[in-house]
Amino acid sequence: MSERFFVASPISGDLAALTGDEARHLVAVMRGKVGDEIVVFDGSGAEFTARVTAVGKHAVELAIGERREISRELDFSFTLAVALPKGERQKWLVEKATELGVTKLVPLLTERGVAQPTAAALERVRRTVIEASKQCGRNRLMEIAPPAVAATEFFDAAPAAATRFIADPSGQSIAEISARDTAEKFAAIGPEGGFAPAELAEAQTAGWQAVSLGSRILRVETAAIALAACMALGRTGGE
Ligand code: SAH
Repeated sequence: MSERFFVASPISGDLAALTGDEARHLVAVMRGKVGDEIVVFDGSGAEFTARVTAVGKHAVELAIGERREISRELDFSFTLAVALPKGERQKWLVEKATELGVTKLVPLLTERGVAQPTAAALERVRRTVIEASKQCGRNRLMEIAPPAVAATEFFDAAPAAATRFIADPSGQSIAEISARDTAEKFAAIGPEGGFAPAELAEAQTAGWQAVSLGSRILRVETAAIALAACMALGRTGGE
């Protein structure tokens, strides 16, 4: 895959520009110059060939060529809801979730969780999604739900027809659970302190299946990516 760049505003005509971090990446890191051919995407699902026509300090101008509708998405909608860790562990989680094809990441508010991301933190998350998408070839960005979704509300709101797994060390082993072929899938991971009994009870009342990821206690980000990988790759048991 050739070098990919993200264009922040939707591409419609035959001109576009790279700005901010993307312009810096092309100019300072890749030593891009007028005449270079690159691939750009705007997060809407397509990618485009583009030629560099002008290089400025803060912006790079592009002539847009061929539009290609290339989907590297999963064939179902996959929502990953997590009581997010902070800092580097959060960044790692977001990067890997993007690579695995998660459709939407929902930061969960839980009884035992720490405070949820600020606007600045969410902006960093968005940047991580873009970086990971450039690298892995996704032309659609993983959506980040607005913060402050209470876990219990989230459990109630997910449609009953969807596959809904809540990660819980006392649940049934993921290897024993049959994968169902549903158009929507949901996974929920608790905070470092675990889900509170009332949260687990609410999930089970709403029809969520508690799944165990083995006999060791995993960090939040490990649990999230282990479960996301099983579900994204269709590798739950019993198929
Ligand atoms: N102290 C908690 C563990 C929290 S680990 C306890 O003892 O229950 C953080 C989250 O990761 C958990 O809420 C759960 O969603 C998930 N998790 C960690 N290890 C897991 C495992 N072995 N199986 C299933 N989920 C796990």
